[in-house]
Amino acid sequence: MSSVNALLPSLMQRLGVTGSAYSTGTLPVHSPIDGCELGRVPTHHPHDVAQIVDAAHQSFLNWRNTPAPRRGELIRLLGEELRASKNDMGQLVALEAGKILSEGLGEVQEMIDVCDFAVGLSRQLYGLTIASERPGHRMMETWHPLGVVGVISAFNFPVAVWSWNFALAIVCGDAVVWKPSDKTPLTALACRAIFERAAKRFGDAPTTLLQVLIGAADVGEALVRHPKVALVSATGSTRMGREVAPIVARRFARSLLELGGNNAVIITPSADLDLAVRAILFAAVGTAGQRCTTTRRLIVHRSIRETLLERLKKSYQALPIGNPLTAGTLVGPLIGKASFDAMQRALDQARAEGGAVFGGERVLQDQFPDAYYVRPAIVTMPAQTDTVREETFAPILYVLGYDAFEEAVAMQNDVPQGLSSAIFSNDLREAEIFLSACGSDCGIANVNIGTSGAEIGGAFGGEKETGGGRESGSDAWRAYMRRATNTVNYSRELPLAQGVRFDV
Ligand code: NAD
Repeated sequence: MSSVNALLPSLMQRLGVTGSAYSTGTLPVHSPIDGCELGRVPTHHPHDVAQIVDAAHQSFLNWRNTPAPRRGELIRLLGEELRASKNDMGQLVALEAGKILSEGLGEVQEMIDVCDFAVGLSRQLYGLTIASERPGHRMMETWHPLGVVGVISAFNFPVAVWSWNFALAIVCGDAVVWKPSDKTPLTALACRAIFERAAKRFGDAPTTLLQVLIGAADVGEALVRHPKVALVSATGSTRMGREVAPIVARRFARSLLELGGNNAVIITPSADLDLAVRAILFAAVGTAGQRCTTTRRLIVHRSIRETLLERLKKSYQALPIGNPLTAGTLVGPLIGKASFDAMQRALDQARAEGGAVFGGERVLQDQFPDAYYVRPAIVTMPAQTDTVREETFAPILYVLGYDAFEEAVAMQNDVPQGLSSAIFSNDLREAEIFLSACGSDCGIANVNIGTSGAEIGGAFGGEKETGGGRESGSDAWRAYMRRATNTVNYSRELPLAQGVRFDV
């Protein structure tokens, strides 16, 4: 037993997951920290999905009649349970997804924050009243629970993405069937145990409000196909979105897609470089470059490109890379060999396209022969080539130069993805243009702050190949409800709209 999987039993016990839940199955779960096997989890078969969705639908039929503020109470209790389990859950995220402990804890804090947000929301699921053109009539919009929400999530935010969906779906009156990444089922089992504690304290919540489906893409696809899944909220690669979206569209259900990003930061001549360097470092190498919002492209004014590059290279050389559970580590491992291979392929292609690569090599293989640690790479490119325009889910930062500001904005937008973007500038005009209609085309556009690390209060998501979905804050809750337009006639007449006459 390695020192990593030795940590697991007591952690899982405190979180409320029994040993048999992760030792008696066929799906092996490996820690990216040292490659050790953490457990074997029983999996579902695509044939199981129909029964599970039917059970969720039964829960929905009951739960939709519970008043929304009371539904909020269940999420308030979930927030309390998450607070009590924050340290354990943060550690489990680190063990299973390889995040540094501080980021693991941050992910759990994000879950707590979204619970708090959803509790407030449970008393604010407002509709509009609308002026009717007819005398003695009233028009309004009402919002009703939608149905079963199928949540599919990625390995890199194994629990936060579930909570964004779950907390909102539950206060909106829906039931949830969750298929986590098959790389991170342990954190999903722990979330379910935490929720079950909250549900027990709540008292009369339907038993199948949350069900967890363990399996690979075929199990996810069965969920996506099921006619009783009213909304499919899927987070992952654009490749996955391309498979999921047409299936959902064919049955006219709703999809909320949170797919790949290829996020850029523009550094203008007036930028505060101290601030920019710190922000770039967190956004480009944090989570070992495995965030959907990771900074992958740096578009720098040519007058400051060399200065900035020098500073970045110096910082990259000093990055503490290693076991994410060790205090002081900033860069943990990649999720596995496939990610490492994809990174090396991208670096080779970039070289072939004229790029100069700094870093990017495997490190610590003596200490961790079965895990994949890399030095984050900086690649100066002569132009925005095909490789730069693709998302490689690893810490590669492509550096491009620009002369005219319009050129920088055009380059920022000239990729298929549209998730997050940022500009570092103290020039008010440049900053405002970047945020305007002719500026960044992304779902997230920031000034003097990096591309990653969003707060839960805003709507999260992006355009183009990122999928168009919005989750978390603002009015993202509307995706989890159906809207009805109601007209009430309290007069004794029956005037028709648009003055139509139909006298009988
Ligand atoms: P992935 O696409 O390999 O898998 C994501 C999930 O989709 C997994 O649960 C997987 O089993 C499931 N899946 C795959 N094919 C499916 C299919 N045909 N039908 C149903 N389910 C299917 O992604 P990953 O490697 O786990 O995560 C990395 C990717 O996720 C990156 O591209 C990253 O940018 C993206 N991501 C996006 C966001 C966002 O909010 N935009 C957030 C996190 C990650």
